[in-house]
Amino acid sequence: MRRWLTLLLLPVLAILILLLPRVVVLPPAWNPWTPLDLRAPPGLLTRYKLSRMAGEPGLCAASFSLSGIPLQRLPPQPLRNGCGIEDPVRLPGDLRFSPGTPVVNCPLAAAWVIFERQGLQPAAQEAFGQRVTGVRHLGAYNCRNLYHRAGGRRSRHATADALDLGGFTLADGRGIGLPRDWDSPGPPGAFLRDVRDAACRVFGAVLGPDYNAAHRDHFHLDRGGWGTCR
Ligand SMILES: [Zn+2]
Repeated sequence: MRRWLTLLLLPVLAILILLLPRVVVLPPAWNPWTPLDLRAPPGLLTRYKLSRMAGEPGLCAASFSLSGIPLQRLPPQPLRNGCGIEDPVRLPGDLRFSPGTPVVNCPLAAAWVIFERQGLQPAAQEAFGQRVTGVRHLGAYNCRNLYHRAGGRRSRHATADALDLGGFTLADGRGIGLPRDWDSPGPPGAFLRDVRDAACRVFGAVLGPDYNAAHRDHFHLDRGGWGTCR
């Protein structure tokens, strides 16, 4: 009898939890149904809201306009054979990217904005007392499988849901990069670890030199759900 009662109550409870944010007025950061404010520090619902963007067209752009951040949207490249970019945008912000500003899937750009404001820039201030002004990257979109293998799963790069970072330029022109500065005992090494850890709070997976030899010269950031952070 009690088991039946539990079975009956569980769906009722689930419905109540789902409806609660629609009935009670929650602050936007605590309400899973409102678009993500990209100016706010990462919170409990940040990754959930980022993952919702992938399934709901328009939600990502809505987050950018809510946050007052200009966004350059490009024509969609529909998926074909596991490759394409559903909601392509140019990576926003005023950083100088080399070589060129990458085109990524919009939810990745949203994650980037939070990471840059709440992770990358504070880490540079802490280590060097200045801003990062440039980013050296190794690409975002690439129609390929994991580790360039002939078979197996598509890489997150195949949908521009990933970005590889090789290094950073500071306001005074100094460069900090992988693999050279990873083992530096001073501020450069501490900065790169801070950057990696900050990326882990926003992106689904972050792979760097601690992960394997294939990532010794870059941080791979993507929105995958595995939660790997090394
Ligand atoms: Zn990568």
